[in-house]
Amino acid sequence: MQTVLFHETIFGPIHSRRLGTSLGVNLSPADGKVCSFDCLYCEAGFNAQGPGKAGLPPRHEVKRLLEDKLRSMKQAGEPLDVITFSGNGEPTMHPDFEGIINDTLELRDTYFPAVEVSVLSNSTRLDRPDVCAALRRIDNNILKLDSAVDATIKILDRPVNPAFTAERVIGQLADFGQQCIIQTMILKGEYEGNKVDNTTDEEIDALIAAYRRIKPRKVMLYSIDRRTPATNLVKIDLEHLRSIASRINEATGIHVQVN
Ligand code: SF4
Repeated sequence: MQTVLFHETIFGPIHSRRLGTSLGVNLSPADGKVCSFDCLYCEAGFNAQGPGKAGLPPRHEVKRLLEDKLRSMKQAGEPLDVITFSGNGEPTMHPDFEGIINDTLELRDTYFPAVEVSVLSNSTRLDRPDVCAALRRIDNNILKLDSAVDATIKILDRPVNPAFTAERVIGQLADFGQQCIIQTMILKGEYEGNKVDNTTDEEIDALIAAYRRIKPRKVMLYSIDRRTPATNLVKIDLEHLRSIASRINEATGIHVQVN
């Protein structure tokens, strides 16, 4: 079984096509996965692997580890563009997410004031005022919307909460406002007899309608990059991604980045 990618709370820095030189923060356990989605393409594997035994890293430990790393990077004169919350699961599920963001901004201001703070989130916790308040304080909210068609998002992202709907999350993203960046995984494939393909005209039209409602400052399109837990998925090539991006840009006027 494919398992988690990150075995530390602070990882990197790594060079990311999307983000530059990025120091990663993993608020999930170092030996398991905790997520409110269970995406077919998740690089950390399926939720079935369990949350592990290490538990969520406590706030004080995240702060200590992050400060140690930032201090040593500063002393060594290492470059840094961004501190990115991603890892083996959904960072906003950590019960101290807001406090950890506050600590991170304080440490950023102390050691690398020009560095940005980004959170990669699956958008499922935008119903929580504390999560939204924390997200509004950071530089880059990179929020997932993989399909605006309810049946497709349920096959592709497999939300844990049975009450999840595409309509509801699109409404929450629209309420969150224009400072967000929407990230959309584009792929085709099949899993357990269900076909999935968010490249069709119907899918792109639905995404265009959703992006018009949300009014993000940018849309990021990408496809599979690493091994995925569902094996019958097809990567969409760069040329096809670019043609989808042009169509979205022409329809909405929103800047669309392809990675
Ligand atoms: S939201 Fe992210 S961490 Fe969660 S299952 Fe999907 S890809 Fe994995």
